[in-house]
Amino acid sequence: MNYKLLLYVCLVLCFGACERPDNTLKILELPSGSIYDVDNQESLLKIVINSNDDWQLTGASNWCVPDKTSGYGNDTLVLSIKANIFSQERKATLVVKNRDVRRAIRVTQKAAANEYIYGLPIIFHVLYNDPSDPQQNVATTKIYEILDQINAFYQNEDKSQNMGLEFIPATHDPNGNLLAESGINRISWPGSIEIDCNAFMKDPNNIQYLWDPNQYINVMIYAFTNENVLGISYLPYTIGTNGLPGLKNGDRYFIDPTLNYPHCVCINNKYLFSVHSILQVPDAVLTLTHELGHYLGLFHVFIGDPVDDYCDDTPNYDRKVYEDWLDALTQPVSFKELAMRTSTTGITFTSDNIMDYDYGYLDRFTLDQRKRVRHVLENSPLIPGPKAVDRRTRSAFNMEIPEARTIE
Ligand SMILES: [Zn+2]
Repeated sequence: MNYKLLLYVCLVLCFGACERPDNTLKILELPSGSIYDVDNQESLLKIVINSNDDWQLTGASNWCVPDKTSGYGNDTLVLSIKANIFSQERKATLVVKNRDVRRAIRVTQKAAANEYIYGLPIIFHVLYNDPSDPQQNVATTKIYEILDQINAFYQNEDKSQNMGLEFIPATHDPNGNLLAESGINRISWPGSIEIDCNAFMKDPNNIQYLWDPNQYINVMIYAFTNENVLGISYLPYTIGTNGLPGLKNGDRYFIDPTLNYPHCVCINNKYLFSVHSILQVPDAVLTLTHELGHYLGLFHVFIGDPVDDYCDDTPNYDRKVYEDWLDALTQPVSFKELAMRTSTTGITFTSDNIMDYDYGYLDRFTLDQRKRVRHVLENSPLIPGPKAVDRRTRSAFNMEIPEARTIE
């Protein structure tokens, strides 16, 4: 091929292959400024986009969610703003761009005017063989009495902490049907209701009795075969991006709520009618207040598993040493003395924490415990109520199912 022919071929290839460049300036206009200040409530923002080209949107956050992330030409973008339940205002910046122009949308959402009070739907699954047995098929009024006293413990601002929550009897079942008795689901149990609580908690056959833990707190009531065990609970999970010491990462359950065990609290119906001889509080109230503390992320205030309860304001003590002291007593000791403990740092104190075992006053949560519970409410999967991190922003389908853990 000679030089002239080569040049000709190159010119033909070039002009044949290249399209004429689009020199039209691409337009992209948003409403003036595109700066939005919204209150802390859930809301929708509609933003008109004026464009003569393809456009893309980036910068969505878990609380400021666009209905689309791309489009062509003129369109209306809808941003779903979630309620801000937190004490800080928050900001999101989204960017719309086409080939030539970038425009920002800035959204600032006010902090919650008052702390969000979590209303946690609770459902008591009452297991019975004999419908006429009041211990098995416990009366509605008895359950409401217990629940009222539990809520009083969780809202006690005098000695304890108002935990910012209320356990509310569920009004509807998972299919949306109105319950005959709010908060109560009576189950004619196919087998004996004398059950080993540890076996019950692990048995995948019992998942069928569980109502979606993201919507309800499930409390099972039956007779334990385990001696001196009044209640048992699962611990919650935490999230990978905002963990809580002592809890397992449960991101997976944000998007894949398939459980292989019944995530619930169980209480022993043998203690439904007994009352603590000194405190004069029903054992069922003390037990369920304690177990719900576990369900919401609290550990015992004594050395156990884990060694620490991750709360600096609860003195740690060695339960084994205390129990050895109890066993060695040879003469009666007052309740006041029985409630004394010696911390691992040598400080003597009176036990009044709800997350302790007897003997103690069992009527107080601390500020650090409140912070843990608040963290769980705002972040943890399998806990009802709004979450700070939206499950749609998570992707953990391939993550191993975290180890489930019970605690008494
Ligand atoms: Zn416990």
